[in-house]
Amino acid sequence: MGLLVVGSIALDSVVTPFGETADALGGAAVFFSMAGAVLHPVQVVGVVGNDFPETHLKKLAARGVDLAGVERKQGESFRWKARYSYDLNSRETLETRLGVFAEFQPRIPDKFRDAKFVFLGNIDPELQLNVLDQVKQPKLVACDTMNYWIEKEFKSLLETLKLVDILIINDAETRELAGESNLYRAGRKILSWGPRALVIKRGEYGVVMMKDRSMFGAPAYPLEDVFDPTGAGDSFAGGFVGYLAGCGELSDAAIRKAIIFGSVMASFNVEKFSLDRLRNLTFPEIQGRFREFKQLTHFEGLE
Ligand code: AMP
Repeated sequence: MGLLVVGSIALDSVVTPFGETADALGGAAVFFSMAGAVLHPVQVVGVVGNDFPETHLKKLAARGVDLAGVERKQGESFRWKARYSYDLNSRETLETRLGVFAEFQPRIPDKFRDAKFVFLGNIDPELQLNVLDQVKQPKLVACDTMNYWIEKEFKSLLETLKLVDILIINDAETRELAGESNLYRAGRKILSWGPRALVIKRGEYGVVMMKDRSMFGAPAYPLEDVFDPTGAGDSFAGGFVGYLAGCGELSDAAIRKAIIFGSVMASFNVEKFSLDRLRNLTFPEIQGRFREFKQLTHFEGLE
């Protein structure tokens, strides 16, 4: 079952209290693919400029990621610069240079159109709709968005949400999208607009999933060394959708398990800069951390 992601492929320059990177491999579609590919083969659609190092793309290819949907265009690649606060809980975007990403028109190669699992990365909701028009009959559509689209393209975002099964956004985006300060009230409102489930990422406080009749929460893995939170949300999404594509099931139990796999992938991602941790991650390491999560939250049978 094909797993398709559409989103940014970037050169990131990031400063954290522990170091910095310049023009490192980044972008939502990249973090998603690198995390997802450990669990299920991933197909990427995105755009890079002629300055994008071939060595960066080779890192994805080495993970088995299918890059047939990555267009190389004349011009500069998308560049993003950010600085994190001392506790890594907030970041300031210093610069966003869209380059060729500004004119991005996703073209899904024929061989990707049968994809059964689709992740719409954080792009213009009109383009997200356009991607869905090109995919034949997906079994699951998951989607991300950000404050920019909530503020500028609210109407088309609502149209996209009607076709989305699972929306994966952070707590601030949840509140802003719904125009509600209470997170759960906000979540309830968003669910009434179409998605069958809403997964709310809460950084170091973990994740909450809301569905029509049930909720599920998971803490973040208690890491003592966090170096670079960039891409935590996208690697969560990669682990989450990657697990579902791998098991091919959408039961409540599978979705709960996918949340733990997502949390595991995000926890590994932040241990090193850029994609340095995910690149070499092995499946046994993932299984080990999955078991630790089980211990961390286990209270069944306790009186
Ligand atoms: P996250 O930390 O999960 O929010 O993801 C950060 C990644 O998103 C970085 O690798 C950036 O290159 C990418 N990114 C930042 N701003 C945008 C944007 N406006 N559109 C698409 N991707 C972005």
